[in-house]
Amino acid sequence: MILIANTMVTGDGKSVLRDYALLIQNGKIIEVAPAEQLKNNFPDEEVKDYGNATILPGLIDMHVHLGYWYSKPDGYEYNQHLIAYLTQYNALRAMFGGVTTVRSVSDPHMVCQKLVQAKEKGFVRAPRIFNCDRGICATGGHGWMLEDGCAQVDGADNIRSEIRKQLRDGAHWIKMMDSDRSNVSEYRQEELDAAADECHRSNRKICVHAGTQPSIQMCIDAGFDTIEHGTFMTVEQALQMKEKGLAWVPTIIAYTYIYDEMVKKLAANQTESSNVVDAGLLHDFEYFRAAAAAYKENFKKLYDTGVTVLAGTDMVMDGAPAAPVARELQYMVEYGITPVEAIATATGNSARVLGMQGQIGELTQGAVADLLVVEGDASADICALNRVKEVYQDGAAIHRAI
Ligand SMILES: [Zn+2]
Repeated sequence: MILIANTMVTGDGKSVLRDYALLIQNGKIIEVAPAEQLKNNFPDEEVKDYGNATILPGLIDMHVHLGYWYSKPDGYEYNQHLIAYLTQYNALRAMFGGVTTVRSVSDPHMVCQKLVQAKEKGFVRAPRIFNCDRGICATGGHGWMLEDGCAQVDGADNIRSEIRKQLRDGAHWIKMMDSDRSNVSEYRQEELDAAADECHRSNRKICVHAGTQPSIQMCIDAGFDTIEHGTFMTVEQALQMKEKGLAWVPTIIAYTYIYDEMVKKLAANQTESSNVVDAGLLHDFEYFRAAAAAYKENFKKLYDTGVTVLAGTDMVMDGAPAAPVARELQYMVEYGITPVEAIATATGNSARVLGMQGQIGELTQGAVADLLVVEGDASADICALNRVKEVYQDGAAIHRAI
């Protein structure tokens, strides 16, 4: 099949092609070439011309929690079965928004491994999932109250042991938590060093929730492959990350969305909540205010250091959208980078960090045909990503906007 659109954003952070086409066969991109040339060379191929539209690689959300049920007000009803259905529902909602790959950075134990298996067996549809199993936090540390969503583990050897168990059970990545909403690192440096070392010894990667100081610096020193949030990161730290080849997943939307929602709740005098997650957020309102302001103030300066930036959404509140990558990219553009640069954070950059360069995240010969087609010119208007026309996974259309 030949797909044509006025605009193609290839995902490398710079290339925009006009009046180009993709030749797709057997789920792969076989050729990227001017539309007329491809049509002439392959006259028997079916042609789909989207006209005033943009074709880009399917989006990658580097920070999701597909099975996050903890903020549900009726959480007492959630057992493993209901959590599994919720996980799959969130996976589908993400796909319909154009997200064809996610990195799930802690969920109830095994739920994403089983979703991957169910997909392989053909039971369900889901994006490609890189899964971290559950998170690992210090006793009483960030995430400790999330039942089986976070293991409380202390001490270097115990952390190594938990990492080995999670890898044994099918985790692709490991997720640590190291800071809550104060300037305290929950783990000691030797524990963080051990975690990173244990993963790297096994040729695996590790990400860490680190939003404040000194946690951000300690996690950079330990060599975590991706720093999640990095809310109060300094320019000096971003330069160190660039030097060490570490990537930053800012999750601007998470803090900004939560702050905006908190403002609404407080305006409506909702100062209490029925669930532990929302109650914690309300309690930490001032933190979210400062966090949202920090992203707005610092994002461009940090981006300009050249540190690899990846798109992640971290939607954990009840009623929040699933994997709203488009909105995260809109914040990035609002705070100073171009739409083409923003798209790279959710395509080429993320594919590289996932070890999938050339396979996903770029419109390039030989890549899997995971594609997003949106109305208009996304290279000029990032909001075009909200106007999904079609999503392809492995060369097959999975969703068509009605
Ligand atoms: Zn998260």
